[in-house]
Amino acid sequence: MKEFDVLVIGAGPGGYVAAIRCAQLGMKTACVDAWLGPDGKPSLGGTCLNVGCIPSKALLDTSHHYHDLGHLLPQHGIQVKEASIDIAAMQRRKNKVVKTLTMGIAGLFRKNKVEWLQGYASLKGDMLVDVTPNGGGDAETVKAGNIIIATGSVPIDIPVAKLDGERIVDSSGALAFAEVPARLGVIGAGVIGLELGSVWNRLGSEVVVLEALPDFLAAADRDVAKETEKLLRMQGLDIRLGAKVTGSELSDTGVKVNYETSEGSDALEVDKLIVAVGRRPQTGKRNAEAAGLKLDPRGAIITDGQCRTDVAGIYAIGDVVIGPMLAHKASEEGVAVAEMIAGQKPHIDHATVPWVIYTNPEVAWVGKTEHELKAEGVDYRMGFFPFRAIGRSHGAGDTNGFVKILGDTKTDRILGVHILGAQASEIIAEAVVAMEFGGSTEDLARIIHAHPTRSEAVHEAALAVDGRALHM
Ligand code: FAD
Ligand code: AMP
Repeated sequence: MKEFDVLVIGAGPGGYVAAIRCAQLGMKTACVDAWLGPDGKPSLGGTCLNVGCIPSKALLDTSHHYHDLGHLLPQHGIQVKEASIDIAAMQRRKNKVVKTLTMGIAGLFRKNKVEWLQGYASLKGDMLVDVTPNGGGDAETVKAGNIIIATGSVPIDIPVAKLDGERIVDSSGALAFAEVPARLGVIGAGVIGLELGSVWNRLGSEVVVLEALPDFLAAADRDVAKETEKLLRMQGLDIRLGAKVTGSELSDTGVKVNYETSEGSDALEVDKLIVAVGRRPQTGKRNAEAAGLKLDPRGAIITDGQCRTDVAGIYAIGDVVIGPMLAHKASEEGVAVAEMIAGQKPHIDHATVPWVIYTNPEVAWVGKTEHELKAEGVDYRMGFFPFRAIGRSHGAGDTNGFVKILGDTKTDRILGVHILGAQASEIIAEAVVAMEFGGSTEDLARIIHAHPTRSEAVHEAALAVDGRALHM
């Protein structure tokens, strides 16, 4: 029987990073993964690389470029007479990006001597794991000193919109459309629904987003959510809030979607329907019980906040445990667990996990929102600065959005930073570093920011906390 110091189950950004870190620390490590790519071959990287972060951003960039042709470039004096988009070429490029990166992980495994076990893992108890090869056959039992469960999540399916893989699809299906649907429905105005709805909207679809909740982007800062909603509507997204989907019917030409609002029942006809109502942890109940693990009502593996389960030597990380379902959160938990197993004292701060929504403009934040601070009774000061007062934004021709910084009234410690604007996903890194170092808004105000850059809006918002913004 093969024996490992560490067996990692799942090779998404949680699992593959954990495996590499374990190997770096000198542990004999294997990573078992069941993912098969569109060619039927094993493909590392989990949801994120195969059908998540990476392909969605590849399509996002293509759709941005296409949209800019008609909207941004004419402002710069650039006229393109007859622009067209070849969806098959766009998809080939996306698939190539995915292939390059998933094969890159295979290379990292080889370099770090992580053994890649291709197949499906079942926990048997006593630190034994059965690995059933892809496509079936006899399982191989392996023994591990430690097990890291990183089995990720899968899209939630709802009975009122059953996937048929053709007209009603989940996020994976929406990343693979062979042509631009003329009329596209999206159920769920969460991160994934908005990102994918925006992609196809920019490529020419008429998009209707049905969201059951009355509030738009309920987790985000209220000012950010309000402005994002306004800008997305201006881009042509038809966002219907308080609209709960109650049923759907396939027709010869598309899908009829029934939904209810406070005003009564309504219906919508679309060519394709994306179901993006969230994701659920991927845990086999029997599998988990066999190993003595406890699950919460959502099916997430219960841990102690440091990724330790109730069973000594078994850890769980990423989407399969509580917390935001984000790739970087999964990876950092992977590193922390590897270091914990090696006897180190790792550091991971869940309070400074950055959130990003890759709409146009992008939304990014770290820390608390104003409504959270109010609910907690925390006294804070707020600094606000719009990109329309930033030279670089004018030069680029994109002045939408703002930066908002929240600081503790007494200590001035940064409590939250909220950005809506181009490249918010990159700019937020500065705020994460500042918060992680226990920085104050005055620290940000006194740090030199290169000119002209969009990051100057962070500087100015920090000055604005103290009422001394320079360019407003
Ligand atoms: P996963 O990536 O889900 O990987 C789990 C792996 O485990 C899979 O390969 C699975 O096949 C394997 N597995 C499961 N059970 C078994 C078993 N029993 N045996 C063997 N293998 C098993 N996050 C971001 O941070 N930024 C983004 O921009 C972003 N965009 C996204 C866009 C879309 C469309 C989607 C769907 C998700 C996006 N996410 C994004 C979320 C991100 O993909 C997840 O948070 C991340 O993949 C979680 O990593 P993980 O390692 O926990 O699990
Ligand atoms: P997220 O969890 O961020 O991916 O967002 C999923 C969104 O889908 C949430 O905002 C839910 O309110 C929404 N949702 C879930 N079920 C329905 C439904 N039947 N009709 C409309 N929206 C829904």
